[in-house]
Amino acid sequence: MRVIILGPPGAGKGTQADGICELFDIPHISTGDLFRENLKNETPLGKKAKAYMDAGDLVPDELVVDLVEDRIKRDDCRKGYLLDGFPRTVQQAKALDKINAENKVSIDAALNLDVPSDILVDRLTGRRTCPTCSTSYHIQYNPPKVEGVCDKDGTKLIQRSDDVEEVVKNRVKVYETSTAPLIQYYDDLGLLFTIDGTQQPTVVAEKIKTALKSKE
Ligand code: ADP
Ligand code: ADP
Repeated sequence: MRVIILGPPGAGKGTQADGICELFDIPHISTGDLFRENLKNETPLGKKAKAYMDAGDLVPDELVVDLVEDRIKRDDCRKGYLLDGFPRTVQQAKALDKINAENKVSIDAALNLDVPSDILVDRLTGRRTCPTCSTSYHIQYNPPKVEGVCDKDGTKLIQRSDDVEEVVKNRVKVYETSTAPLIQYYDDLGLLFTIDGTQQPTVVAEKIKTALKSKE
């Protein structure tokens, strides 16, 4: 199963990812997480991506496409993958189609988590993230069992530096301009499932499961 999860920043893509990956035994590939890992390790790629990420702008397509191509060619992707945060431009989507065509595989479904932009700032400024396993929490809507600590591994939660209001607003704008056109792109290919992402996380998860099971 090769799945793409689309939606604006804060739509709940990361929150839903683990459930989907467990269901189909596929890896969760988050380009945001891959970039943050490169940033932390101060790799040449991390250094190139830093200024874009700090500002909430997109990292140039060519850097992202190479990163994803290397990742999806690994052995653990033979049964499929969940792409979270990629593609984010029509050019990236076309590059992905080309890579898949060369490998004689194709995308099975594109999930679109629909959340109106006025909710996103609140979701993202209240988000707290585990720097070890990337699980995200919300101080109000999805708090950890013990305040400030990851339920899964006990790591102290952080607030991502791009989850501050000014950068969040730019990320939402960038989404609307560069990424939202992908909804039409995947609809035209007959792969799109739009899900109301304002519902409770468990309800969203059920709807995703029903959609993906129809493609199995
Ligand atoms: P994305 O990966 O799309 O940027 P996240 O999964 O990190 O989004 O979720 C963004 C924030 O919204 C987090 O603080 C998360 O706990 C919260 N959240 C996720 N899904 C929901 C939901 N269905 N209802 C309310 N809050 C949610
Ligand atoms: P979100 O919470 O919005 O889902 P991500 O963790 O996916 O955030 O992405 C964080 C940042 O990493 C983005 O603002 C952008 O700078 C960069 N990034 C991640 N994925 C991509 C991509 N596919 N194309 C360009 N830039 C990306």
